[in-house]
Amino acid sequence: MKELTLKKYPEKILRKKLDPVEKIGDEEKEILKKMLSVMYQSQGVGLAANQVGVDKRMFVADLNDGQGAFFVINPKILKKEGGSKMEEGCLSIPGAAVSVKRAKKIILEGLSLEGELVKIEASGLLARVFQHEMDHLNGRLIIDYLNFPSRLKAFSFLKKKENNRLFENRKIENRPQ
Ligand code: ZN
Repeated sequence: MKELTLKKYPEKILRKKLDPVEKIGDEEKEILKKMLSVMYQSQGVGLAANQVGVDKRMFVADLNDGQGAFFVINPKILKKEGGSKMEEGCLSIPGAAVSVKRAKKIILEGLSLEGELVKIEASGLLARVFQHEMDHLNGRLIIDYLNFPSRLKAFSFLKKKENNRLFENRKIENRPQ
């Protein structure tokens, strides 16, 4: 299987509503395990499949708090309670920090790595991470929570960054051998 690498904004797959997983086979298990190592390498606490270019409704999370890693396939939020605002980042949009209002407590249902239906009651940071990853599966990004003027600013900032990156690549390519 090919290496999985982190996809960054504005890659198209980050905007796709991902397809449900029909069968949890060896391939899916391998992808999820690789996703977890990409997440650890990038020092993230959650990662959705489209962030490594895979069109499947699944994500991984690990808050590094002793609870261990979560592998969630075809997740659904059954219940939301309360609300809290907090600044979030995203591995796919380096440098962006957006204050996002999310439910404080949720009940998430999905399939485990073994294909068992599990219900997870999450609150605080875990609930936030789950909701952030659910957004990814639906093609939604943190920058979508900005109000219009801030969004314009953020997009031009990201555009500039993208241009700089292209420019840097060009410089490297043009370097005399
Ligand atoms: Zn993200």
